[in-house]
Amino acid sequence: MRFDPGSRAAYSTDASNYRQVPIGVVMPRNPDAAVAALAVCRQYDVPVLSRGGGTSLAGQCCNAGVVIDWSKYCTRVTSVDTDAGIAVVEPGIKLDQLNDELDSSGWMVGHRHAYPWTFHTGEKGGRDRRPPRHAELR
Ligand SMILES: Cc1cc2nc3c(=O)[nH]c(=O)nc-3n(C[C@H](O)[C@H](O)[C@H](O)COP(=O)(O)OP(=O)(O)OC[C@H]3O[C@@H](n4cnc5c(N)ncnc54)[C@H](O)[C@@H]3O)c2cc1C
Repeated sequence: MRFDPGSRAAYSTDASNYRQVPIGVVMPRNPDAAVAALAVCRQYDVPVLSRGGGTSLAGQCCNAGVVIDWSKYCTRVTSVDTDAGIAVVEPGIKLDQLNDELDSSGWMVGHRHAYPWTFHTGEKGGRDRRPPRHAELR
C-alpha cells in the first residue's frame, strides 16, 4: 500500500489529460490480498478503481478513490486448458506476456492491439473484439 504524496501524484493520471489525486494505491500480491483490500474499502465506503497499464485515454484510471494496481504482482497464468480453449489468468498480466506463454500451444488471445506490451488483460474484456479467430477473453 502506498499513501505517500509521491505515489499518489504518480497515480493521479493515465494516458489521458485528466488528473485526480487518489486516496492511495494498493498493489496486491495475489487476488486474495485484493479481496481483503476491497473489504476494507467497503467498510469505509471508499471508491475503488482497478488499474492495469493505465493506458486508458479518457481518464478512466483517474479518481479520488483507492487505486488497485494489478500490474506489479498479479501477473500469473493460473491454468491453461488447450482442449477447452480456456486460460485462467490474473488481471495484471500483459497481453504480450500471455500470448508468449500460450505460443507453444497454438492458441493466442485477443485482437491485434496497438500496444500489447503494456495493455493488461484485466481491462481487455471491455475492449474492441475482432472476429473470433482467436480465443476470447471473458
Ligand atoms: C497509443 C494507444 C493506442 C491504443 N490503441 C487501441 C487499439 O488499437 N484498440 C483498442 O481497443 N484500444 C486502444 N487504445 C485504448 C486502450 O485500449 C485502453 O487504453 C486499454 O484498454 C487500457 O488497458 P489497460 O490495461 O492499460 O487498463 P487501464 O488504462 O489501467 O484501465 C482502463 C479501465 O479499465 C478498468 N480496469 C483496469 N483493470 C481492471 C480490472 N482488473 N478489473 C476491472 N476493471 C479494470 C479501469 O478501472 C479503467 O476504467 C489505445 C490507447 C493508446 C494510448
